[in-house]
Amino acid sequence: MRTVDTFVDARALGSGCVGLVPTMGYFHEGHISLVEAARRECDTVTVSLFVNPLQFAPTEDLESYPRDLDRDAEMVEVAGTDVLFAPQLSEMYPDEPLTTVSVASVTEGMEGGMRPGHFDGVATVVAKLFAGITPDRAYFGRKDAQQLVTVRRMTTDLSFPTAIIGAPIVREQDGLALSSRNIYLDPAEREAARSISRGILAVADAVLVGERSGEELERIAAEPVNDEPGINLDYATFVDQDTASPLAGLNRPAFLSVAARVGRTRLLDNVHIDRVDGGWVPDVGIRLDEPSILYREA
Ligand code: AMP
Repeated sequence: MRTVDTFVDARALGSGCVGLVPTMGYFHEGHISLVEAARRECDTVTVSLFVNPLQFAPTEDLESYPRDLDRDAEMVEVAGTDVLFAPQLSEMYPDEPLTTVSVASVTEGMEGGMRPGHFDGVATVVAKLFAGITPDRAYFGRKDAQQLVTVRRMTTDLSFPTAIIGAPIVREQDGLALSSRNIYLDPAEREAARSISRGILAVADAVLVGERSGEELERIAAEPVNDEPGINLDYATFVDQDTASPLAGLNRPAFLSVAARVGRTRLLDNVHIDRVDGGWVPDVGIRLDEPSILYREA
């Protein structure tokens, strides 16, 4: 594996089909699953690691976001990465950008509503990575469902020749979706956080036994979070997979997204519901059978 910090070097090292995995680092098994998918499908696997200031509001955790380049480099090398692109701020934003990317409509609700400007920051940095690295394929987690919708739409609208691949959510043993921010949770917060995945898994079960009402699925997702002290629900919303707009009922591929705050940490989870062979199939992702590397190396 080569670690580089310029677009020129990252692009020069790509040959054949290039798969890009954009990240902000502090890797866990969710990131590794994206690298492994790219390894199976591409000739060159490039991982980008950049904590993007443009997608953080001034009140958010940009300064305290966990960072450890040596740890991260070792983990992605073992997983089969060819190129680790870890640019400095001056490479990504040589000047204050006058050109940014803003994706309308799909960014209005949920995270876009709660974090104004967040998806402009995401779309801008992903567009820069696509322009600078020219990947054939790019891998994103279903964990950040509205981000995936936004990136797909940006890619179509700007005619990037990059195929967007969405990969299943990787969960801890008790069901909590893996996030680099999970390391901030103390034991009581960690316990309260479990209520999110309890709701998400209950939604998947309800779909499997025939529930089709958006309102009822939202109620099922919200209930365990609302019943748990020490956690505050921001939203539980049932939306269309292509447009991220609310759906009254399950009549198109959809996802149900939950966001909640535990202490100072915001957590996201969702279940995608896909059309498979004429039926509705919930994708709750994959569960680890041992503690995450997040804790082993913390
Ligand atoms: P981040 O470093 O948080 O920006 O995440 C980089 C990529 O990893 C994004 O495409 C995320 O959606 C994805 N990701 C983060 N957590 C998970 C998870 N638990 N399972 C699958 N993908 C994930």
